[in-house]
Amino acid sequence: MAKVRVATMWFSGCAGCHMSLLDIDEALIDLAARIDLRNSPLTDLKVFPEDGVDVTLIEGAVANEEHLRLVRTAREKSKIIIALGDCAVTGNVPALRNGLDADRMIESIYGSPTTSNGALPYDVVPQLLGRVSPLAELIPVDYFLHGCPPPAGLIAKTIFALLDGKTPELVGPDLKFG
Ligand code: SF4
Repeated sequence: MAKVRVATMWFSGCAGCHMSLLDIDEALIDLAARIDLRNSPLTDLKVFPEDGVDVTLIEGAVANEEHLRLVRTAREKSKIIIALGDCAVTGNVPALRNGLDADRMIESIYGSPTTSNGALPYDVVPQLLGRVSPLAELIPVDYFLHGCPPPAGLIAKTIFALLDGKTPELVGPDLKFG
């Protein structure tokens, strides 16, 4: 049987959602047997697979130009997009900077002798967007996994439902607090 092609991506977030994915523990062994992990912070591949994937899980909000390019590429090349965790779903903590002027914020940090040598970082880090956005403001999203992070049980049940060709059941007492 052909393996399901999966990607995971990490935008503006703390990596806690990927840690929750790893918390599915021994189910990772079953998962590894059924998926072809094509792109992920876990594999450190930098380029989204040109031939596309079946499912992409995205952690984090869209906060800079690199995220914006990648989220559009992911939508174009993924059959299913899952917003993994509250930063991807609502903007959450990264969106706290909305309302601040991004350029002034960067200048005040990197232009200050108390925090920097005075060089602005845009030759090595992507330009910040003026506003941090949840995924659904920018692309169609197929499933939303709430939580900060989403419980490992919710992530596992969602992924295995999709692998079995079923529609994930995204509510239930065992999933809310599992
Ligand atoms: Fe981290 Fe919570 Fe955001 Fe996930 S939702 S990236 S755990 S802050």
